[in-house]
Amino acid sequence: MQRRHRGAAITLLEKEPVWGRHASGRNSGVLHAGFYYTADSLKARFTRDGNARLTSYCNERGLPINRCGKLVVARTPAEVTGLAQLLSRGRANGVPLEEISSAEARQLEPRVKTCERALFSPTTSAVDPLAVLQSLVADAAQAGITIMPGVAYVGRAGRTVRTSAGPVSPGYCINAAGLYADRVAREWGFAERWGIVPFKGLYLSARPGSPPFQRHIYPVPELSRPFLGVHVTVGVDGGATLGPTAIPAFWREQYSGWSRFRLSELGEILVRDAGLFLRNAFGFRALALDELRNYRRGRIVSLAAELAEGIHRADFPRWGRAGIRAQLVDVRENRLEMDFKYEGDDRSFHVLNAVSPGFTCALPFAAHLADEIERLRR
Ligand SMILES: Cc1cc2nc3c(=O)[nH]c(=O)nc-3n(C[C@H](O)[C@H](O)[C@H](O)COP(=O)(O)OP(=O)(O)OC[C@H]3O[C@@H](n4cnc5c(N)ncnc54)[C@H](O)[C@@H]3O)c2cc1C
Repeated sequence: MQRRHRGAAITLLEKEPVWGRHASGRNSGVLHAGFYYTADSLKARFTRDGNARLTSYCNERGLPINRCGKLVVARTPAEVTGLAQLLSRGRANGVPLEEISSAEARQLEPRVKTCERALFSPTTSAVDPLAVLQSLVADAAQAGITIMPGVAYVGRAGRTVRTSAGPVSPGYCINAAGLYADRVAREWGFAERWGIVPFKGLYLSARPGSPPFQRHIYPVPELSRPFLGVHVTVGVDGGATLGPTAIPAFWREQYSGWSRFRLSELGEILVRDAGLFLRNAFGFRALALDELRNYRRGRIVSLAAELAEGIHRADFPRWGRAGIRAQLVDVRENRLEMDFKYEGDDRSFHVLNAVSPGFTCALPFAAHLADEIERLRR
């Protein structure tokens, strides 16, 4: 926006004192390729283009990137059909994707386990999300944006926005508040039928010196859910992690123990979870009960051990940095929104569902949102 409108005075508020305290700094750091999503979705287009753009960005800026590629494996003969579905989605989205035999898969990653066949995605890679964030913040500052870390949006009164540093009167307000996006949007008359439900992603990190992996290894996901299942990820430094889980969290920033507990959020989220549970939308009951078992380290290890040889608990002694997905739910229909979602008018704009792979999509998604904002303000 700042580059398009050189004279505009854009201010970025961030309630935390540093960048990356939430999803953008706590994700798997995987640049996805774009073969999970149907061709008519925003995610399909922005993942493919976002992967290419962030890859070039990292190369230009000298930011670490591990172009390790990814294998998607079938754990059972039934899952081989799922591979075929992903392959056809990948082709429809114009994403490079190869169907290979289990022997070929083992040449790419000697530890992989798969039934008959696998998919190889050469463009899936790993980046350091915090390094990318730092670089984007520096770009924003250089473009002329005023950046205010440690300053929270508190509420609004008419056209005045209350912040923790005092009132401001913006000509236009853009809300990309992640886990709090629905709350901010409601104050501006949006998100009436939407609410955030947080899902916690736990990771286990490999101990230094444990047997390495060459490629990311993912299972065939349940395509009716927005989560990809516990997988093996290789970081920029070659270290492996197992996870993430998708455990329903009971308040928005429930990273560990009672941290950032808010009673009002507990009530609101329990009501939303209960709606999903009763309606059993997208198999939420099974998902919730299954995922609650994933608090046990042994369970995450055993799920990952279905994907690769030689995964032992002793090699994954540490919990990594947990992340929380801000998943949007249609509270009237008790349905999870699978695609990106935003609403706005000539005064404000609200990014309601910037779910995974929102990090991969960031650059083309941001350009698309800037187009939408310009259209609304005309
Ligand atoms: C466990 C996990 C794994 C993931 N893995 C991947 C992956 O491998 N690849 C991928 O592409 N995507 C991944 N994602 C998705 C990706 O991380 C998100 O889509 C993306 O980071 C969302 O960015 P965001 O800016 O909307 O949210 P956030 O990064 O959460 O940013 C929102 C910001 O708003 C601030 N904020 C909130 N309220 C206020 C307020 N009142 N005032 C001021 N500031 C406020 C917050 O402090 C926060 O910094 C993953 C997500 C999770 C949780």
